[in-house]
Amino acid sequence: MKLVRFGAPGAERPGVWLDDRGTPEILDVRAMAFDIADYDAHFFTHWGIDRLRGLLMEPVQKRIAADGVRLGPPVARPANLICIGKNYADHAAEFDGAPPSEPILFAKAPTAIIGPRDPIRIPAGWTEADAEAELAVVIGRAASRVEAASALAYAAGFLALNDVTERRAQREAGQWYRGKSFDTFCPLGPFLVTADDVADPQQLGVRSRLNGAPLQEGNTRDMLFPVAQLIAYISRTLTLQPGDVLATGTPSGVGFARKPPVLLQPGDEIAVEIDGLGSTCNRVERA
Ligand code: MG
Repeated sequence: MKLVRFGAPGAERPGVWLDDRGTPEILDVRAMAFDIADYDAHFFTHWGIDRLRGLLMEPVQKRIAADGVRLGPPVARPANLICIGKNYADHAAEFDGAPPSEPILFAKAPTAIIGPRDPIRIPAGWTEADAEAELAVVIGRAASRVEAASALAYAAGFLALNDVTERRAQREAGQWYRGKSFDTFCPLGPFLVTADDVADPQQLGVRSRLNGAPLQEGNTRDMLFPVAQLIAYISRTLTLQPGDVLATGTPSGVGFARKPPVLLQPGDEIAVEIDGLGSTCNRVERA
């Protein structure tokens, strides 16, 4: 099942993306179940995905044509937007050398999240914005001190994420939070694909394209720490909350490591695609 949120920024409604009638449609979830307010912690905690399956069995459904409808990020603003650094050996090498011996955790501000087609807006004075194509995981139920062997049961689903990064801010600040957290620096979507529809999250192609030309090309099989290990590792420090988003790191080929560097410029279009999960595609603008 493909969960989407649609409508104006800040006023999105929960939906399900449907392709079964030839042209894409969106199930207007709130028009059928008024108490499903949004794809948030309450939704995931209260068997929300099971309830959507029930709505899809209803003989009379509220659907709208998807054409021309703005999609927001497929989940409501999470409590935590946790990221993993250098989770692919080839990216660690192009960044500054050796692969880490345990996961490197950092965060992006959840306020950076935007929809899959919204513009990335670079503030004046910053010239080193770069893209990072990543598989992201949405947590489905509270996870505290879980074992890796059972950790994937805590994932509600998977989606594409662009960990946009201002390299100068990342370099200068002595930590990564600032360079990662500019408004609009986290395109997400277009769909949250539920975990039952992702056969193996460690066998997914991950790629980015700048103005249509390939930039990154990797596969989640090359993660140093797979998704299950990451959930288990983080859950030993903090309780992951339903609706939390975890960005699992980027493969090699990022723009700033190229010679010469390829950084995002106003007018560019940057896409991040994950096999089976669709792609974000965002125009770059000056804020
Ligand atoms: Mg990243």
